[in-house]
Amino acid sequence: MSSKIVTRIAPSPTGNLHLGTVRTALYNVLLAKKENGKFLFRLEDTDRERSKEEFTQEIVEGFNWLGIDWDIPDNVKHDESGMVRQSERNDIHSAYVQKLLDSKKAYKCFASPQELEAMRAAQKVAKLPEGYDNRGRNLSEDESLRKEQAGEKFVVRLNLGEARDIKWHDLVRGEMSINTKDLGGDPVIQKFDGQVLYNFAVVIDDYEMQVTHVFRGEDHLSNTAKQIAIYEAFEFPVPSFGHLPLIFTTDKQKLSKRKHGDIAGVEKYRHEGYLPAALANYLVATSYTAPKDTTGEVYTLEEAIKHFDPHGLSKSPAIYDLQKLNWYNREYIAKLSHEQLLGYLKPFLKYDLSNFTPEDQKLLIDNVRGSIDKFADINTNIAYLFEEIIIDDSLKKFLVEGQVVNQALLAAIENNEIDMNSPVDIKNKINLIGESLSLKGKQLFWPIRIAVSFSSHGPDLGAVIYLLGREKTIERLKNLLK
Ligand code: GLU
Repeated sequence: MSSKIVTRIAPSPTGNLHLGTVRTALYNVLLAKKENGKFLFRLEDTDRERSKEEFTQEIVEGFNWLGIDWDIPDNVKHDESGMVRQSERNDIHSAYVQKLLDSKKAYKCFASPQELEAMRAAQKVAKLPEGYDNRGRNLSEDESLRKEQAGEKFVVRLNLGEARDIKWHDLVRGEMSINTKDLGGDPVIQKFDGQVLYNFAVVIDDYEMQVTHVFRGEDHLSNTAKQIAIYEAFEFPVPSFGHLPLIFTTDKQKLSKRKHGDIAGVEKYRHEGYLPAALANYLVATSYTAPKDTTGEVYTLEEAIKHFDPHGLSKSPAIYDLQKLNWYNREYIAKLSHEQLLGYLKPFLKYDLSNFTPEDQKLLIDNVRGSIDKFADINTNIAYLFEEIIIDDSLKKFLVEGQVVNQALLAAIENNEIDMNSPVDIKNKINLIGESLSLKGKQLFWPIRIAVSFSSHGPDLGAVIYLLGREKTIERLKNLLK
């Protein structure tokens, strides 16, 4: 095995692309790229019933969107992009099963499902820990052959041998130790139908793909002990493992599609117009603190790669926090040029901006930049320019109280006392009206804002009125004064 660092992500296409998968992928990317190694992508699609091509598509597109690029593996079959499909490797896996059978580190177990059922029931009654009692270990070779020739079905199990501690130094959690007696008996590595099981396929594939480091979710801890036992049976070098905390919601539930719906998946954020760099930054930061004085909180993947230090990974639960994600997204939106921002907003816009001059479009877009969490928010922020919106009941009192303000503004516009082509002049005039009426702040601005834009909040009021134009402003003020 070369000394180069090789990491991988190995998602199963049995569901939507989960934020946790992306986060795991990102840490594997950071480590590989930091060390000039390789990051590989293996699709664990051996569960034929649950694996769906549409989920594969979603994973690939999601990774592409996020800028998660994978490398080409050295000596295993892969597609053009470098992706390895586990389902195409069953013959290879079976050959490795045979090696373990030949070396007597695995055996065929002929116990039928009914027999195992009865075994478990008896364990329950006797209050013994439930699990396979390794009964198949003792079958003689002759007996095994006779049963096989008689057409009896069997699974292949790894012989875990005498009970012992399986230890590893976890890159996130430190020293780990799991005793083999807690693994539920000799694990099945190949089923009745010849299909190898997850823990076995992973070991063979990681070995052949020369994977040196594996970051994955801590739900795999007990799998890791089984996998290390398989590595040892083959005398393969064992990769370094790092088990990351899962993502939880604030109510301490594991973030999942079933419980929390769309928020658990990447699709929602893509469709609502989050910037991929912001989502990636947010996800990396959920369980990682960059070394001091390097990147701060806001960093691109390239910056994170440059400074990545696995010691910055935390073993405390990661918390899903939409406010924080929105904060990251706004930080990234703030950095976009006007042209970039307009380009991103275009597919989301439901209003036609072509009646505005390019300069006015710029004013409009740059004014709402600070008020949107994501691009899909654009429409609610500019809707006032295009349609009448029902005013919230709680705001109506400001219109009543502020009638004098709106009357004064209407008169000033109708008497041409304001240069309506100048947001600055409009704003100045409003301030003068305030001075003359001895009103300021909320009392001055809210009645106007609510009258012209149906909301108490928004961008610079001078710009709002300028963009709305003389006619519409007059019309709205008059309507409300009626
Ligand atoms: N297919 C497994 C999963 O999606 C891979 C786990 C691993 O990284 O080994 O959880």
